Amino acid sequence: MTPALSTVLRRRFVVTGVVQGVGFRPFVWRLATSLGLAGLVGNDSAAVFVEVQGAAAAVDEFARRLAADAPPLAQVASVAWDELPVAPSDGFVIVPSRVADGARTAIPPDVAVCDDCVRELFDPADRRHRHPFVTCTNCGPRFTIIRALPYDRPATTMAGFPLCDRCATEYHDPADRRFHAQPLCCPDCGPTLRFTDGTSGPAAVVAARQAITAGQVVAVKGIGGYHLACDATSAEAVASLRARKARGGKPFAVMVRDLDAARALAEIDDDEAAVLTSPARPVVLLRRRPEACVADGVAPGSPWLGVLLPYTPVHHLLLEGGGTLVLTSANRSDEPICFTDDDEAQRLPALADAVLTHDRPIHVPCDDSVVRVVDGRELPIRRSRGYAPLPVELGASGPAVLAVGGELKNTFCLTDGARAYCSAHIGDMGTLETLQAFERSVAQLSGMRAAPVRLAADLHPSYLTRSWAERHAGDRPLDLVQHHHAHVASLLAEHGRLGEPVVGVAFDGTGFGIDGTIWGGEILTLGAGSHRFTRAAHLAPVPLPGGDVAVRNPRRMALSHLRAAGIGWDADLPCVAACGAAELRLLASQLESGAGCVPTTSMGRLFDAVASLLGVRHAVTYEGQAAIELEALAAAAPLAPALRMPGLDPGPLLAGLVDGLRAGVPVAGLALAFHAAVADAVAEVVERVAGPVRLAGLTGGVFQNVLLLRLTGQRLRERGFTVLTHRVVPPNDGGLALGQAAVSVLTALDEQRLIEEG
Ligand SMILES: [Zn+2]
Ligand SMILES: [Zn+2]
Repeated sequence: MTPALSTVLRRRFVVTGVVQGVGFRPFVWRLATSLGLAGLVGNDSAAVFVEVQGAAAAVDEFARRLAADAPPLAQVASVAWDELPVAPSDGFVIVPSRVADGARTAIPPDVAVCDDCVRELFDPADRRHRHPFVTCTNCGPRFTIIRALPYDRPATTMAGFPLCDRCATEYHDPADRRFHAQPLCCPDCGPTLRFTDGTSGPAAVVAARQAITAGQVVAVKGIGGYHLACDATSAEAVASLRARKARGGKPFAVMVRDLDAARALAEIDDDEAAVLTSPARPVVLLRRRPEACVADGVAPGSPWLGVLLPYTPVHHLLLEGGGTLVLTSANRSDEPICFTDDDEAQRLPALADAVLTHDRPIHVPCDDSVVRVVDGRELPIRRSRGYAPLPVELGASGPAVLAVGGELKNTFCLTDGARAYCSAHIGDMGTLETLQAFERSVAQLSGMRAAPVRLAADLHPSYLTRSWAERHAGDRPLDLVQHHHAHVASLLAEHGRLGEPVVGVAFDGTGFGIDGTIWGGEILTLGAGSHRFTRAAHLAPVPLPGGDVAVRNPRRMALSHLRAAGIGWDADLPCVAACGAAELRLLASQLESGAGCVPTTSMGRLFDAVASLLGVRHAVTYEGQAAIELEALAAAAPLAPALRMPGLDPGPLLAGLVDGLRAGVPVAGLALAFHAAVADAVAEVVERVAGPVRLAGLTGGVFQNVLLLRLTGQRLRERGFTVLTHRVVPPNDGGLALGQAAVSVLTALDEQRLIEEG
């Protein structure tokens, strides 16, 4: 039925956000067709553009459902529209992509293979039965295969795999669920899986599984890089993997077939189950069951177990028969993940006995993400695959900034208008490989965004990221941002509240202070719209004896804290007993003379000190180990004596803990009492410095501690504060770049305002 001419409209829509590579054009096609509308849809480098023509009521209905019914992986940022003159129009078509200047569209993250595709994978009647690259419009690799925008197959690493006739038919059939799915392929036209022994295709998976069962370490090429996989129940295999990675005692994550298998390893509530099975499929840190069937070497002494579920067809095939795999990034600790053919040839032989690989290139590396789940919300520990490079809406618009991030857990951040694009996890700076990975990643992401006109880096004079920024800034302004200021700004930015007055609690291990000492127990106030901060309060400083040595040996921090508190080094205290006589003499003279001692207000170091004082951990093999074990102990405690830390002075609190030890109070109770005392102290001090401000934020690596996060949040809310915690970027240094970028944007806006005011 042809509508009366007077009621026919033609309207153009421009949709921005994460709208490419998520099935948006097919969705528009189906919606328009079902409403009897004519017109067109296409991608340009900035957006999806749509023109529809038809009855006014149908056009209105289309406009209503365009954002409301968008496909699950889409994130619509804006829909602009205007009226066009009615034109001769026949049917609804998808038009070729256009390259447009100016703003760029968001790149979607990689997503786990969907349930529909997994069904086909295991359906003997399906032509993609056991095809290791099965994918559709709703799933599969994106970020790691996109070489350029707009997102079309020739601009991806699938360009070298021309579609066979049957796949081409699916690609062009608007009724097919692979309509315009760019990575689509089949056994006839897709990449090939190969195993070291020469087998290929599904047989390669069988061979790899046999090698793992036989105790070998097998490298598996995945979405964003190679993993190392081994049998998690084999002590020998796990020990061999640990030695090759030079990983110390840091826990490995494990992958199992499904949620039921995961429940046999760890306690999982509904929220955690939802995150485990989400399209991002991160590693979720879960409370480990005592009877969990994994070798001790998987997560030695750890109360937590990192678990992830299969997210590629190869994972599903590897775990088809059950089992528990250690699955960890293929790299030596401190180095970036292996992801290229060169890496496979040069770095993998030392790491793995065999390789399950394929010939689809990985354009950008991307590690697995790691999260904890707190009160139903994700607390990111590492934001990478499945999340990067989704934009963060800053709540303020400014010039394009490149923020280079911190030194450990490095990520960088690019802003474009009001959006910030945070990179995937890059790693610990300090090796040439990491620096190269950083530079490659900066070039790749900035090639798809506005060119940065301003840079931001940490204030620390010996951070490699800072010197890189200084070398590359040229004529562009470089903002040096204090570490904890950046942490607080990152929290405001991820909540879209940049520029709002806030009291920020930034607790971590180490950050360079503006007075040249090591900060880390900071309460900062940020004024409205200001790019500056005030150090309103901080933990009382103590000497950090011997820098890194003290970081690796919490017993030394305990002794430093005891001395600062005027508490004698009596042999009945676990931290004193853990030191030999020579070490005690050395430390005493070091603290006496101050040689090699830097003052620090680090809250991370106080957690270390208390862990050693309570006999939990005297030396660590990875960052945060002592604090993690202290938290786990406290979380299991039934009740705790009341202790106090007035004015962020740890002295009285340490005295209370020593009294408790001597009175025979269980250490779990003392660990809980310590957490509660820190939370109380924070709430008191925040209230004291807040004035009329009712917004508080909890950030820094110490707030990966869920118990402390909960207790402190509770205390602050009881006092009437709105409390911001991290949900998008990590509280640790992985979130630093976003905060640096945010401060830089505010600085630029302030400069602009001064110029305009003359
Ligand atoms: Zn799918
Ligand atoms: Zn095909």
